[in-house]
Parts: sequence; structure tokens; C-alpha cells
Amino acid sequence: MSDYRFLTAQDIPSFLAFLAGQGNRVLVPTVQEAVKESVVFTPFSQGQPYTLKKATVPPKFSVLPPCETLLTYKKIKDPKNPEHVTLTVTDKPSAEKTVVFACRTCDARGIAILDRPYLKGLYRDPYYAAKREALLVVSLTCNSGCETCFCHFVGAGPSSPEGSDILMTELPDGFILQGISAQGKALLAGSSLADGAARVAEMTEVRKAAWQTLAKAPDWKKAPERVAAVFTDHEFWERATERCIACGACTYFCPTCYCFTITDEGDPTEPQGGRRLRSWDTCMASLFTREASGHNPRPGKAERMRNRVSHKFATYPENWGAFSCSGCGRCVSQCPVGLDIREIVSAAVNKGLEGWWVRKKKQRCPAWLRA
Ligand code: SF4
Ligand code: SF4
Repeated sequence: MSDYRFLTAQDIPSFLAFLAGQGNRVLVPTVQEAVKESVVFTPFSQGQPYTLKKATVPPKFSVLPPCETLLTYKKIKDPKNPEHVTLTVTDKPSAEKTVVFACRTCDARGIAILDRPYLKGLYRDPYYAAKREALLVVSLTCNSGCETCFCHFVGAGPSSPEGSDILMTELPDGFILQGISAQGKALLAGSSLADGAARVAEMTEVRKAAWQTLAKAPDWKKAPERVAAVFTDHEFWERATERCIACGACTYFCPTCYCFTITDEGDPTEPQGGRRLRSWDTCMASLFTREASGHNPRPGKAERMRNRVSHKFATYPENWGAFSCSGCGRCVSQCPVGLDIREIVSAAVNKGLEGWWVRKKKQRCPAWLRA
């Protein structure tokens, strides 16, 4: 048998049940009706409706929950010497075996982007590592691009395998599943799905056709040095941020943003005890960098946008050799005032080359750069 399997649309629930039967929490995209329709990952249960639409919220929470307890503590005072306090800390990183099913390849790549600082830096984060080791990612390759996504601007594409254990591609009569990692291949080998080797040529054509739907990508090879070069150009960042209302949506919807804050919280049922929490935070908020003295090294929106864009397109690439952006486009589609990170990066890349930029009529020229 090959590393490819074939799955019909009707058999998806049985495949999800098979994954759940292996002791996994299986996270599937689910439609939620709110003010407007949104698609979020929820644990699969038999009979539950699911969708294969691109999720509004990425599955980042599978490795980095919005709020998690890192440790619990208890203080015990010596009754004979109350100044003597013994602190007991319980710190057991734990994780539930999880399969993320049918995220897009940009979301899987987002997890690979998180892996570098959390697993490969000076300090390996044990809480992240436990969840990452327990995670298997099945990504659905995109058969076409959309207006807001741009995976191909940042070195990837609609069927990039980075971060995925299994890639799943839609054919007219079902899906072909390709084992990428050893875990993905083993999972497919243990399933009862039919061999898909005979459909590989067709799958390759579908994946190639997806590329034809994408707009031409700008050349961002020099983005790290060009974004770094505009770091001290305050006017550039002021103009790039004029419309921003500092809501933080661009960071909360982002599969690669990982700013967090730490809070120690007493336990009301255990006066001597408490817990330490890690919660998502956003570098787009003014309080994120305000120091206890009241000084804020990033006092305005411009400095905060500069930090967000520079981290993704200059500092992270300097440290890790890749952009900290998977091109998912959520910061573009979710921004209430229509700010577009592609325009900011392109403006930095083309700064000083305005003539060149305007001549390229087919590419978008941000009005604020032309003004
Ligand atoms: S910066 Fe924007 S496009 Fe890039 S990964 Fe984050 S949300 Fe997606
Ligand atoms: S989503 Fe838009 S308005 Fe909100 S903080 Fe991000 S750039 Fe600013």
C-alpha cells in the first residue's frame, strides 16, 4: 500500500469516528451563527454537523490555548514561625491527544511558525511542547485562492506540507489523503481507507490548477532588510496606521501571533493557594508594553504597528530564516477598517522605488504611499 488513501465525502463521518476511536479529541470546522456566520473548530461527536469551509478562527488554541493554567501553588506558614513560609508548586504540563481535521495549509504552517520560538529557542516551552507532541494535523489543500489570502507571497502555496501530518486534496468524487509525517503515514496505514495511489496524477493536476487561480506575487525577498530599514521612519508608520482603531482583531485571529501575559490568581476556596495563568495578549494594545512606572516604550498606534509588522517580516526572519506570517489573510479580512498588511510590507519593500511601483499598474499601489 502507498502513502495515499482515498476518502469519499460520505465516509468522512466514519473517518472522524475512527480518529476519535483512537483516543483523540478530533477538532472539526463547525459553522456558528453569530452576528455573521463564523466557522470555528469544535470537538467532533457522532452526528454533529461539520463543514469544510476555511475556519474564521485558526486552530492555534490546540497548542496555545487563549488561557491556560501553567502551575498551581500553595503557601504554608510555619505556625511557630509565621515568617517562615513554604511554597509548594505543582507544575505538570499535560495534553490531550488531538487531531485537527481539515484546517487549511496556512494554519498548519502557522503551527510550524509557532514551533520555532516555543520549541527550538533558548528555552523549550514544556506546556506548548506537551500539546504539540500530542497533536496531529490533517490539512485540506485549497483548490483556489481568495482575495484576502496570500500564502504564495510568503514562500508557501495552497498545498504546502509544512506543519501538516496529512494533506487532503479534494477531487470531483472525494478526497485523496497523503501521509506527510511518519505519524500521518502510520495513521493512514492503520485505517481501512482504500489505497489512493491510482489517483495521484489527478491530485497533482488539481494542486497545480490551484496555483493558476492566484494573483501574481510581489517579490518580497528583500522584505526583511527593507522593513528593518523603515523602522525609524516615523511618518511611514503614522501613515500606515492612520485608520487603525487598536481593536487587536488582527492579532487575535492570527495563527502565528503568540504574545501572552502572565497572571497570578488566588484560589478563593483555598486561601493559601492559587494558580499562574498564561493568556493571549496583543502587541496592538497600549497596555501590552506599559511599564509599572507609567512609561510606555510603544506609546502610539504607529509604534505598535511597527512592532507587529517588523516582528513578522524583519526580526523573526532574522532569527529563524522565514516570515512569521502564513499568508492566511485573516488580519485583512477581519480588520474593521480595512487595513491590509500586504500594502504595508509592499510599501516598505518599494520605498524609494515609487516610480517603479506606480509603473507596475497591475499591482496595487497603496494610496497613502502615492500621496
Ligand atoms: S499576519 Fe495576517 S496574514 Fe499573516 S498569518 Fe497573521 S493573520 Fe494571517
Ligand atoms: S484589526 Fe485593524 S483596526 Fe484592529 S488593531 Fe488590527 S490593524 Fe488596527
